[in-house]
Amino acid sequence: MKKIETIGIIGGGQLGLMIAEQARLLGVRTVCLDPAEDAPAAAVCDEHIVGRFDDPEAVEELCRRSDTVTYEFENVPGDILVPLCGKYDIPQGYKPLYDSQDRLREKRNAREHGLRTPRFAAVDDEASLRAAVAEIGLPAVLKTRTLGYDGHGQAVLRSEADLAKAAPLLGVPCILEEFVPFDYEASIVMVADRERVVSFPIGRNIHREGILDLCIVPAEPDADVLDRMRAQSERFMRSCGYEGILAIEYFVRDGEIYFNEMAPRPHNSGHYTIEGSTTNQFRELVRYLVRQPLEEPRLVAPTVMKNILGQDLETAQRVAAEQIENVYVHLYGKSESRPKRKMGHITFVGMDAETYARDWAARFVE
Ligand code: AMP
Repeated sequence: MKKIETIGIIGGGQLGLMIAEQARLLGVRTVCLDPAEDAPAAAVCDEHIVGRFDDPEAVEELCRRSDTVTYEFENVPGDILVPLCGKYDIPQGYKPLYDSQDRLREKRNAREHGLRTPRFAAVDDEASLRAAVAEIGLPAVLKTRTLGYDGHGQAVLRSEADLAKAAPLLGVPCILEEFVPFDYEASIVMVADRERVVSFPIGRNIHREGILDLCIVPAEPDADVLDRMRAQSERFMRSCGYEGILAIEYFVRDGEIYFNEMAPRPHNSGHYTIEGSTTNQFRELVRYLVRQPLEEPRLVAPTVMKNILGQDLETAQRVAAEQIENVYVHLYGKSESRPKRKMGHITFVGMDAETYARDWAARFVE
């Protein structure tokens, strides 16, 4: 097989940046495709193609300049990627993207492959919304089927009066889901090749306004839930025939595990692995892409990852200047900072949730 010297990355955001950083450590070149001249990954990649993800010529140019191609972004259109999958080395293929691009398809697929999901129903208009509410009950969560992220394109419906809130979403196909009053949210990141699936220690995720705020690892002391989550996730990945990287987000309630969503790319909740684990999600993705054997990760110490949104950027810069042992500040170099925009993250190795709450939480915007 041809030696893989250059990885192409569809997308040039922070995930692309961190893939490129790990590729560089392994002596592998990277090219990214991103429409923004100042895309974060462009500062690290060897080449940057300024182009759109829905421009077939730009995506093909990325493939031509690469020995293998991956994506850091889930909304790559199938009509562009599918023809290229036959012509170029895109080892994860289009299937995991296809299965995750539509929340209805994603949940059906999860069920077919053995995972429990919240109850759900397709909603296309007011009549189907009423029918879905009658079947699922309230409270429930209405979400757009495609292109939703970080809580965008969703509304929690708690009472009949809230159905009016749904109107702005109903212009596009939606899904209504049972509201799960979860004890906690957790996620797992896995990397698989033909031979094995390796998975990173599971984190407990705390969201604020639909955006990940904290990831706490290990997720909780209940080893039984984590063992089951890990086993069922690895079985799911195999059963679906996916390779490469996959993250799954779950809700946990009374020891029951509910699939929420998945992403076939590195995941925000896996950023802690860079320092908190013996190998990290970006490195193992690169190793998969260059056909090196995968390494089983181990947690170095309890770790907390804090996402840095625009409103916390200045605090993060101050923390970086303080040079504190086992506190790792990552800033993505985005030229424009806005509230709620992911600008960086901080990883606290050797820290648990209580210590974080006592010593650190107050430094960040509530
Ligand atoms: P999502 O984009 O589907 O990950 O939703 C963003 C966040 O909204 C999740 O991380 C949960 O905190 C919350 N959420 C989404 N769906 C549900 C649900 N069915 N029940 C309870 N909370 C939910």
